Amino acid sequence: MEQNHWKLETIAVQSGYTPENGGPRVQPLVQSTTYKYNDAQSVADLFDLKREGFFYTRLANPTVDCFEKKVAALEGGVAAVGTSSGQNANALALLNIARCGDHVVAVSSLYGGTVSLFTNTLKKTGLSFTFVSPDASEEELEAAIRPETKAVFAEMLANPALVVLDVEKFARVAHRHGLPLVVDNTFPTPFLCRPFEFGADIITHSTTKYLDGHATSVGGMIVEKGGFDWNNGKFPELVEPDQSYHGLIYVRDFPAAPYSVKLRAQWIRDLGSGMAPFNAFLSMMGAETLHLRMERHSSNALALAEFLEKHPKVGWVNYPGLKNSPQQPLVRKYLKRGCSGVLSFGVKGGVKAGERVMDSLKLAAIAVHVADIRTCVLHPASMTHRQLSEAELIAAGVSPDLIRVSVGIEHIEDLIADFDQALAKA
Ligand code: PLP
Repeated sequence: MEQNHWKLETIAVQSGYTPENGGPRVQPLVQSTTYKYNDAQSVADLFDLKREGFFYTRLANPTVDCFEKKVAALEGGVAAVGTSSGQNANALALLNIARCGDHVVAVSSLYGGTVSLFTNTLKKTGLSFTFVSPDASEEELEAAIRPETKAVFAEMLANPALVVLDVEKFARVAHRHGLPLVVDNTFPTPFLCRPFEFGADIITHSTTKYLDGHATSVGGMIVEKGGFDWNNGKFPELVEPDQSYHGLIYVRDFPAAPYSVKLRAQWIRDLGSGMAPFNAFLSMMGAETLHLRMERHSSNALALAEFLEKHPKVGWVNYPGLKNSPQQPLVRKYLKRGCSGVLSFGVKGGVKAGERVMDSLKLAAIAVHVADIRTCVLHPASMTHRQLSEAELIAAGVSPDLIRVSVGIEHIEDLIADFDQALAKA
């Protein structure tokens, strides 16, 4: 099939699984830890990565493989590796190329869980981080890079600050220093933005969010664009023999996708944090309607943002798609098809008034989630971003009164009516 020429909608529906003659129409759920072989040599070859196949689900599984191929195709990458969660994806995306003593430049407006992962947990592995503003100039970005820096990390559309990344600028600076740009593309999804087209080298996802889209499965994905020059003196583990694989050299033996093969052969194999087959099965089904859902999420969010903007009890609204948003120039460049389904707002009267509104919503639920088909709200300062200090909250763009709305795909009139009646109680 001519997958290279398919539009995103077709990729979403068709890619990842092609049934053989008489085979099941839908990719089967292979709920099996292991695989049977008739001869010992076949298994030995699989262990040595001399041929492709499956021998133990901790490393790879046919259902997960289908979902990996679908997401790789959606992003336009050469390979993808499924992980147990988005957190795991972001951790492994960096651990695969940075080790004790190394350094990463990251934007400050990241999801709170990622900030916590970097500043607490990954710090214990010996990595250090410098956080820069998403608005940083090229000079400021340059100044943050050190000789031991191994990657630049950013979110394409920050959760919950909703800052749109100037991905071309970040890629330019990263590449000038021989560094890969790692972009968490969870909020836009490849339907709204494909960061590889603007210079990103590695893309991560919490597939828990829009890719699954139905709030059924926690999962993550790391996608490799291909073509990055790992042989520039900064990444010895990709160019020197891997003794745990009989001297395999990733860039030489797997030139198309060295980063992904190393990731699976070392990190997924040793930590056992790959995606669960059932989660891949459900997420794959979700991803098949990604294009339809993202259009509706985006149009509903814009309409709700416009309603809130005019409401007398609302102090402020943040949605990059609003006409007067200062982010419009970046939106026109990177988010032409829509700005996704998340918006934030503050109620006049502050945190207490906001709490009353949240408690009064009938259709929109209070839920620690974002990016599924049902509308929900959350108060980041007391929930998802609770572990952050006051300074980190400000850097992440989280004011105390911020209410985050994940706008679902219900009818917009029902959503507006719900927020209207709740605001009346503020
Ligand atoms: N990245 C972003 C942008 C997120 O919003 C989240 C979770 O909300 C994560 C990563 C972490 O993903 P998960 O909850 O699947 O571990």
